[in-house]
Amino acid sequence: MLAQWPGACENFFVMPNLPALLGAGAACAAAGVFCWGAVAPSSQLFGPTLRHTGDSTAIALTFDDGPNPAVTPALLDLLDEHRTRATFFLIGRHVRAFPELAGEIAARGHAIGNHTETHPPLALLSPRRIDAELLRCNEAIEAAAGFRPRWMRPPFGFRGPQLPGAVRRQGGAPVVMWSAWARDWKPQPAAPVIQRLRHARGGDIVLLHDGDHRTLRGDRRHTLEAVRYWLPRWRDAGMRIASLDELHLRSPLV
Ligand SMILES: [Zn+2]
Repeated sequence: MLAQWPGACENFFVMPNLPALLGAGAACAAAGVFCWGAVAPSSQLFGPTLRHTGDSTAIALTFDDGPNPAVTPALLDLLDEHRTRATFFLIGRHVRAFPELAGEIAARGHAIGNHTETHPPLALLSPRRIDAELLRCNEAIEAAAGFRPRWMRPPFGFRGPQLPGAVRRQGGAPVVMWSAWARDWKPQPAAPVIQRLRHARGGDIVLLHDGDHRTLRGDRRHTLEAVRYWLPRWRDAGMRIASLDELHLRSPLV
C-alpha cells in the first residue's frame, strides 16, 4: 500500500497556487515539511502516533487491508498454532464483504483497528469525509465483531492536520504507525519478505498485509510464508509476539 506515498507527495508539489503565495523556495520547504509530516512513520506533526510496543521483548505484528478470504483464514490458523495474537487493521468495505471472517478474527482474540471504509489518502480529504470514512468502518466492524475497534491506522500512513480532530470525534482510538515493515504490499516471492523481516527487533510494531486495498482477494501468500518462517525464530530468540490489546498501550504515544 505504501507504494503510493511518493505520488501523494508529488501531488502536493504541483498545487498551482502555492508557489504564487510563498515563492518557489518557501513552497518547496513547506511542501517538504508537509510531506514529511504526512507520511513519515516517525512524524508527530499531525498528532501523536504509536510506533513501538514499549516492551523490548515484545513485537507487535499488524496486518492491514483485510479481511481477505484468500489469506486471512490460513494466517489465523498459523497464529493459533503458535498461540500468538496479532492486530488487524480492517477496511470497512472488506468487512462488509466478509463479515464472518472479520468476526472470526475477533473471536480468536486478535486486536482490531479501523483502517477506514474505502482506504483513501486521508490527508487529501475534508474533515467531514474523514469522519464518514472512520464512522462507516467503525460501524462495519461493530456489526461483524460486536465491538468498536480500539485502534486506528491511516491508509498509506498518510496523515494531515485534519486527522486528530476526526479521530477524536469518532471515539479517539490511538493512531498506530510502525517501526519496521516488510514491503509486502504487492505479490512477490516469500524470500525477500523473509529477508526484510530480519530487521524486526523487540519493541517494534511491524507493518504487514494480509489484504490488498485494491481488491477483495489479494495475493498475500508471501506474507503468510514469511510469518510462518519467523514466528518460531522470534520465539527462540526470546521475543514474545503480542497484540496491541495485550500490550495495553496507552497515550502518550511514542
Ligand atoms: Zn492499507
